[in-house]
Formats: sequence, C-alpha cells, structure tokens
Amino acid sequence: MKKIYLDYNATTPVHPEVLDAMMPYFKDFYGNPSSVHSFGQETRKAVEDAREKIANLLGAENPSEIVFTSCGTESNNFAIKGIAFDNKDKNCHIITSAIEHHAVLKPCEYLSKKFGVDVTYLPVDKCGIVNPDDVKKSITEKTVLISIMYANNEVGTLQPLEEIAKIAKEKNIIFHTDAVQVVGKIPIDVKKLGVDLLSISGHKLYAPKGIGVLYIKKGTKLHPLLHGGSHEKNRRAGTENVPYIVGLAKACEIALKNMKDENDRILKLRQKLEKGILEKIEYVQINGHIMKRLSNTSNISFNFIEGEGILMSLDLDGFAASTGSACTSGTLEPSHVLSAMGVPPEKTQGSVRFSLGHYTTEKDIDKLLEILPKIVERLRSMSPLWEDKKRSEIRD
Ligand SMILES: *Cc1c(COP(=O)(O)O)cnc(C)c1O
Repeated sequence: MKKIYLDYNATTPVHPEVLDAMMPYFKDFYGNPSSVHSFGQETRKAVEDAREKIANLLGAENPSEIVFTSCGTESNNFAIKGIAFDNKDKNCHIITSAIEHHAVLKPCEYLSKKFGVDVTYLPVDKCGIVNPDDVKKSITEKTVLISIMYANNEVGTLQPLEEIAKIAKEKNIIFHTDAVQVVGKIPIDVKKLGVDLLSISGHKLYAPKGIGVLYIKKGTKLHPLLHGGSHEKNRRAGTENVPYIVGLAKACEIALKNMKDENDRILKLRQKLEKGILEKIEYVQINGHIMKRLSNTSNISFNFIEGEGILMSLDLDGFAASTGSACTSGTLEPSHVLSAMGVPPEKTQGSVRFSLGHYTTEKDIDKLLEILPKIVERLRSMSPLWEDKKRSEIRD
C-alpha cells in the first residue's frame, strides 16, 4: 500500500538537495566555526554564507540580524522571554492572540505565572483573524511586546500583519511574529511587514528538525536565554550547528525559487480536495478564512463524528492527516484554535487538518476523495449523534 502524507504542517521530509548540501559538513568540514585554524575558517564561512543568504531571502537589512537557534520553539521563547527579561524592572505587559502555537502561549503563561507579567490574549473572529483595533485598544503604557502569528498552523488563516506592525510602531512597541508556517510558502519581506522579531523553523520547509532562526531587527534589545560562549554575537551561546545551518539556507533558497509554481499547484490540489469533500459528504464545514489562508492547509469539520476516529481509519488506508496541532494530538483536548474561532465543541471534535506539500499529487487527492466518504459514512452509521439527527429529520 502506498502511504500518502498529508501532514506537512506538522513536519516535512528533508529535500534531497538540502541533504546533499549538508553532507560535507558532517564529515569533511567539521571544524568548530569559532576556531582560528583553517578547519574553523571553512565552517565559519559556511555559517556566514548561510546567514547572508537567509538575510537576503527575508529582506533583512543586515546578515547580523539573523540568529540561528535550535527550533521554532526556541525562537519564539527567545523573542518573548528575551523582551520580557530585558524589561524585568518594569512590570510589563504582552499582547498576543488566543490562537497562537503553544510555543508562544506557554512562554507567555510561564512569564505571567512566574514573573507576574500581564498578558492579553486577543480574541479572533470566526475565520480566525485578529482585529487590529483590538490590538490598539489593548495597548497600555506597560506594553513591551506584541506577538501575533503570521499564519495559523491548524487552519492556515493569515493575519493582517502589516496593519498590526504599524500600530506597534506608532506606540514604539516591539512586534514579534511566529512565521514558522509561512516561510517557504509566501514571500517574506521583514522590512515591508514592519516586524522587529520573526521566528522560523527548518523542518516546516524541507530542512531538518532541530534548526531555527530568529530574525532580530538591528537595535532590538533581547536578553539571551543561553549563556556560555560569545556565539551569535553574544545572543545565543552554543557551537553553531553547521550542517543544519547550511541545510536551512539551501531550503530557503529552493523554496523561493519554486514558490509561485509550487503554490499554484498546491492550491489547485486543495481546491480539488475541498470541492470533492463538499460534493460527496454532507454536514461538513471548512474552518478558517476561505481566501486569506495558506494555500496548502485545509481544516474540515465532519459533523456527528470524532476527528480521531477519522484519522485512525485514514491511517489504516495509508493516509496521514492530523487533528489540529501535532503537539496537542493525543490529549483529546478540543483545539484551542477552533474554540477561539467559536466553532462549537461538536464540530471541533470532528475536525481534521489536511496539509498538502511538495510530494502531494492529484492521484493522492483522488484516492482520498474515494476513501474518505466511505470512512465518514461508516463512522456516522455508528454514531448516536448521527442517529438522532436522522430521526429528527424524519420527524420534521
Ligand atoms: C511547528 C511550529 C512551531 C514549533 O517549531 P519547532 O521547530 O517544531 O519547535 C511553532 N509555531 C508554529 C506556528 C508551528 O507550526
């Protein structure tokens, strides 16, 4: 049985060209970039070349604005705790949204519990969009940071980032965005966006797991999380992960080169998927904004049944999808994203996220559209909720 992966928002496979670019840095060029000898000089050059490439791809002013981290989670923690710790003498306030990834929500919770930092979690509308007016209204004289994600990982909804950045700038407040789901899918220009801090993760764009970047706009003061050597200009101690850094730069380069064609191709596949589901299955609902959305992401509620059940059946047929976030699956907690969007619990329970990517083909979608209606029908036939629904229809 051919296995079909539709969970690219959880992680992606390493691109063969990325792996090729990385390989020499495991075995042949292994010097510590901080060493002064020629072994060190070779790898230092590789790291600085990668930094420059990534800076260019993000539209950063200066390569020194790119700081390598171990993952998207670290980048988010660094941005949020870094700003809070730098303002520890004030009793400070952070604005974020209710639909952020846990890698933003948890550091905020931590700061509020341990350090008494005041955090505002902004609501979203039914499409998952933050209202910039809400951002404006929540600002107090204590606000030091606004952190709003660029695109949501569960539903793909894109936020009005430029508008929010403008508000932040007017009030002289640092603006961070978790752009982990966006990098590689939409062109990013940090200057045009107006962000001060932006998080990236390698494994969401065909680089390996365990490498990330925090873009830090020149002049932004951040307290470091890791103390040790003077790596990354004293912002992040720890010997640079040279092969992974080289791989991330390569992945960014490939993504930018193919972005338009890849996006068009994937969007067509998603449209086919959603059209097919809406035609073949009744009582379904697409979650997230219809237009302002990542072209690869489709979050769908199948009423009267459990998303987990659908996933298990799909898995038996070789399909990998997910209910919301990979980090919360298995907990059976309803998605905090769908809840914040006002999706009622019974529809949240029945939601499945399909996220398409580089290796998704039209055949894959055809096969899914053949199998999924049968799965839904079988699960509904066993669902007491479905039985009630059918009975009430007969009564009406
Ligand atoms: C995956 C993801 C993260 C976490 O990145 P890691 O590199 O896995 O730590 C953060 N934010 C969003 C939106 C993500 O999708």
